Amino acid sequence: MMQLFIPLNFLGFVYREIRGALANIERMFGLLDKVPSIQDTAGASELVPTKGELRFNNICFNYDERPILNEVSFTVPAGQKVAVVGESGAGKSTLIKLLFRFYDVDSGSVTIDGKDIKQLTQQALRQSIAIVPQDTVLFNDTIYNNILYGRPSASDEELKEAVKLANLSDFIESLPNQWQTKVGERGLKLSGGEKQRVSIARAILKSAPILVFDEATSSLDSKSEQAILTALKVAEKGHTSLVVAHRLSTIIDADKIVVLSQGKIAEQGTHQQLLLQNGVYAKLWRIQNEQTITL
Ligand code: ADP
Ligand code: MG
Repeated sequence: MMQLFIPLNFLGFVYREIRGALANIERMFGLLDKVPSIQDTAGASELVPTKGELRFNNICFNYDERPILNEVSFTVPAGQKVAVVGESGAGKSTLIKLLFRFYDVDSGSVTIDGKDIKQLTQQALRQSIAIVPQDTVLFNDTIYNNILYGRPSASDEELKEAVKLANLSDFIESLPNQWQTKVGERGLKLSGGEKQRVSIARAILKSAPILVFDEATSSLDSKSEQAILTALKVAEKGHTSLVVAHRLSTIIDADKIVVLSQGKIAEQGTHQQLLLQNGVYAKLWRIQNEQTITL
């Protein structure tokens, strides 16, 4: 019995891994029709970076001749939190795609712990980053398997701990079949906030040195937003984090805020410094606060 059980279980694992990796990377960026053409360089390192210091060095990137990012440079020191803000179309998601090497930069470089990401295997690169995407993909499977996807080798104890930290324990208890409840397209539909907390639980479980959070653009009620922010704070602890934010309230505590405008860095600094500077960020901040007051 045991002999039969292990291979089946293993096949299930491989199946989930492959299906998950493909679905997630492609759907995460809404590019189902585009298959990444990036190959591992000969002699690329399989060692997964451990500190998580992240640098964008003077990067330029065009989509079909159209300049998208222009001489963008900033550093995320290991263990710190850097937020990227800017109007829609400014190039924020493109930065994340370049970090994942979904595309290669045209010039400049992206490094992790001083190593050009082109010198890492794609597997090592992806193992060093946990992403909470704007739109979480749930598989047609149990909530248990959906969270285990963060790190399939995790124990049940680790899984429970991650769920607790992501503020999801009560939610799972309230489901009709608790952990065994089917979710996804053909199962129970989760709200945007619940799905993003599933992603945070996966990220906590993965425990990669770098955490990337692409905030959902659709508005959440303030209770869901608070639940996400609390979970995010836990996930960020001890990790380097790069956060793309739409609601500036998410990133007041960031060590640095990078303001992107038309593919260039318009300003960078802490929340306080940027307010004093009275530029693009200060204006965005005033607009968002006025909206909050009138709502
Ligand atoms: P943001 O996340 O800040 O809203 P993006 O990085 O998604 O901005 O997009 C930056 C610009 O690049 C936008 O003008 C967008 O239309 C364009 N763009 C995004 N993806 C592609 C693509 N696959 N092909 C061509 N242009 C793209
Ligand atoms: Mg975006």
